[in-house]
Amino acid sequence: MIAEYGLDIQTLVPELTMQEQTKKHGVLYLTPEGQKECCQMRKSDPLLKKKGQVQALIGSLRRADGGRRAQCPILSVDVDMNVLRINPLVSFTDEQMNDYISSNDVILNPLHAQGFATIGCNRCTTPVLPQEPKRAGRWRHLGQWAMYCGINPSDLDPTLSPAIDLPEQLVDRILGRETDFMI
Ligand code: SF4
Repeated sequence: MIAEYGLDIQTLVPELTMQEQTKKHGVLYLTPEGQKECCQMRKSDPLLKKKGQVQALIGSLRRADGGRRAQCPILSVDVDMNVLRINPLVSFTDEQMNDYISSNDVILNPLHAQGFATIGCNRCTTPVLPQEPKRAGRWRHLGQWAMYCGINPSDLDPTLSPAIDLPEQLVDRILGRETDFMI
């Protein structure tokens, strides 16, 4: 993807390897409380180390993902990171997404073809059946379908990440053109 899309990709890593973490804290991901701790150490903490180095974070959350993401805002404030969170794909339906992927030959993670609707850590992600919600494969062993790791604050509690509604005229001014849709 670096070559195909000309991206500058930086991989953020947790302080401890999984082996070191397990030695120190035990197997955390097997309980709901441990999952929060594990996701904090392995996902949120590495991102927090970038605080002050970025002005905004662009994500891929979509309302079509369902669950709490059905209400996901296009713009929100990440208080912990002190940045704007921008989700430009928020109103893309599954059909629009699939059309875009096929018309633009977008490179896909091969796990999608194996039934993984969403992709997370290998210990906590399974494929889903056709009739299951997309996030049914995440933390399946913990018994709930709508769980989130916490790296996107709007997944946890919308009040922690206030949405920003921008008037159409302001969006036009920011983009320097006429807006053809509003979310
Ligand atoms: S998804 Fe599972 S293994 Fe990955 S950080 Fe969260 S609890 Fe740990």
